[in-house]
Amino acid sequence: MTLTAQILTIFPDMFPGPLGGSLVGKALKDGLWRMEVLDIRSFASNKHASVDDTPYGGGAGMVMRPDVIDVAIRDAESRNGPFARKIYLSPRGRVLDQALVKELAACPSMLLLCGRYEGVDQRVLDAQQMEEVSIGDFVLGGGELAAMVLLEACVRLLPGVMGNAATTDEESFESGLLEYPHYTRPAVWNGLEVPEVLVSGNHARVKNWRQVQAEELTRTRRPDLYEAYQLRHKESVKEKKS
Ligand code: SAM
Repeated sequence: MTLTAQILTIFPDMFPGPLGGSLVGKALKDGLWRMEVLDIRSFASNKHASVDDTPYGGGAGMVMRPDVIDVAIRDAESRNGPFARKIYLSPRGRVLDQALVKELAACPSMLLLCGRYEGVDQRVLDAQQMEEVSIGDFVLGGGELAAMVLLEACVRLLPGVMGNAATTDEESFESGLLEYPHYTRPAVWNGLEVPEVLVSGNHARVKNWRQVQAEELTRTRRPDLYEAYQLRHKESVKEKKS
């Protein structure tokens, strides 16, 4: 199954951008996923090709017009069929995390609407039943970079994109923990040695050391994740006992 990503933007030249490089770009060239970019402006009906207007109720900035966005979405659907997910990148949305990334990577198609200005008229978001996804609690100038972040995170999980599928198994968030620290050659660098356990050749000790490191890192850096991890751990112990 190939993932199709339909991008709606007023800056089509920003794509593929970074998505054209590295493994994700190679996967695009190899047809492991597809990307189609539509210029929202080409659906504007007035002579100035304007996609935005002043907000009702007053206030600063401009708002993207519902009629133009709606025609753009319908056009995309007329060629691709209905999209499994229709996402408006928005700071108000559900915050993207690895669980959502996995969910999205498993779907066959997604439409990504990149907002600009103050955002998009609420009526078209409601009428098109768009879900809102944020890439974090900060405000970008537009949804394009957010769409790229979301896509890179999803595409690298697609079968055949990463050389070694096992590389994602132990990554941060997979087990609910942040990942343990990594070391490579030289064994001594600037007088700093790699932890002895990693050169011991004892796989059980290495595994245990990594688990302890991951737990400690998560506890100190992300107490929120650590608390959830502990809770899950306690529940699974309870389930095993019952
Ligand atoms: N007025 C909006 C607000 O306060 O929530 C911010 C609008 S922002 C300047 C313009 C566009 O950037 C948004 O419509 C959205 O598409 C995108 N954007 C900004 N921050 C984002 C974030 N954290 N995640 C996803 N998209 C974001």
